[in-house]
Amino acid sequence: MTTDSDKPEVGPCGIVCGFCPLGSGAVAETAERARGFLEGCNIPDWAPLVSEEGCGIDWHQVVEGLEWMRRYALCPGCESGGGPPDCPIRVCAREKGLDLCSFCGELESCGNFGWLGDRGEEMKDAMRRARGVSREEYVNALQGGKSGEG
Ligand code: SF4
Repeated sequence: MTTDSDKPEVGPCGIVCGFCPLGSGAVAETAERARGFLEGCNIPDWAPLVSEEGCGIDWHQVVEGLEWMRRYALCPGCESGGGPPDCPIRVCAREKGLDLCSFCGELESCGNFGWLGDRGEEMKDAMRRARGVSREEYVNALQGGKSGEG
């Protein structure tokens, strides 16, 4: 997901939203497609003929779940009000007026990444490596190098 113009959304933790399946819309799109296949291919009709497990599935609930994902499993990104509302990283960076935690003088001692477990440590390391790099350079480097962030 992007903000105005083509400026990619980036969380202060360094997640580039376009690389996240929730931020890119991949989850919501996949749910919509799956629902289309479910109904278009009449899967509930022939599922019981294929395997015993196919008899016990509440397909109505499956459709409801996919519809929920289509509508809500879509994150607009931290910069646009998405993301976990109480994320301490976002709250803190916003208070400090920082786009990225790599600009923060307290990064080394920061405990705000802890709630994300091992993933948080990886993100903190990424922010350490991004010291001295502008937001745009950081995004460009990720876009040129990998697409699985998030
Ligand atoms: S203290 Fe610095 S590194 Fe930690 S969350 Fe706040 S802005 Fe980011």
